[in-house]
Amino acid sequence: MVENTNQTAKSPKRQKRVKRLKKIIVGTFLTVTILPTVLSIFFGISRAHYKAALKEKTEELNYYLELGSEAEFFEEQIPEALTDDAAVSEAAPTVRRENLTDDDIKNLSLSDEELYEGYRKIYLTFDDGPSSNTDAILDILKEYDVKATFFVVQHEGRNFERLYRRIVDEGHSLGMHSCTHVYSDLYSDRDAFMEDTTRLRNFLYLVTGTESDIYRFPGGSTNRASATDMHEFADALREDGIVFFDWNVSSRDATAGGVSRDAIINNVTREIGKHTESIVLFHDLGSKTTTVEALPAVIEYIQAMDDAVLLPITRETDPIQFLSVKEDN
Ligand SMILES: [Zn+2]
Repeated sequence: MVENTNQTAKSPKRQKRVKRLKKIIVGTFLTVTILPTVLSIFFGISRAHYKAALKEKTEELNYYLELGSEAEFFEEQIPEALTDDAAVSEAAPTVRRENLTDDDIKNLSLSDEELYEGYRKIYLTFDDGPSSNTDAILDILKEYDVKATFFVVQHEGRNFERLYRRIVDEGHSLGMHSCTHVYSDLYSDRDAFMEDTTRLRNFLYLVTGTESDIYRFPGGSTNRASATDMHEFADALREDGIVFFDWNVSSRDATAGGVSRDAIINNVTREIGKHTESIVLFHDLGSKTTTVEALPAVIEYIQAMDDAVLLPITRETDPIQFLSVKEDN
């Protein structure tokens, strides 16, 4: 048989061909078995990754659809009286933090306000979190040893709970910003508003062990979204011992269409020099990545000012409030 003759003829040429054939078989085997495994692992991971990212984006989109365009309410919200250049004291700060030891501070039980009398006080505030940016924001604050304030909404789930706890554990102030941020529900009437506030307060207490006593109204205290007189809600908060805070410096990071890192830096730094007390509005939302990018430069700018101090908001902080409310005694 022709075939037999071929098989017995063991020429070097034939051996070479057999070798090459073996290589092809092994190569084909590897391609058919290992490559799909590697690819499926790769795509499996990225599919999970994209699935998670898609889920977050969907949640965020729903969130925005529900709350309407917050930017609409945030834009140009600062009343005239608060935008005027406040008279900044020319006198040197009277109490120098650096002249006091930690023991002095403890013994005198000085509040931040007393401790930093004469300083420009700057409060960085982040609304709407926690989000996929919260860890990055907290990492930056930690790196620069800055304490800030987070006005949060209610998000269920282990990762969110970890973020509420991280905010508290790292010394930041945890403020309330409503459970859902849905204006129509929240601002429907006084009972609905206080029911929402109590629910959020209890939720945060269960998760962090801390009772929040500071609040920021979604859209601010003079928002145009509420059909109810905002004084109703301000009174209700005061009765519950909760202080609300608006802002007098806006990073404008909630502006529709997004804001560049440089614009955010500029929006903040050009305003803070005008006030003895600046409450700066930022947003902690997954889509606001330029906020995170701008934060280090904003902090560096403030830390380079020799008469400024960055502090977290407490109920003792001088509140900046758009809504004029009766003094509580
Ligand atoms: Zn908000």
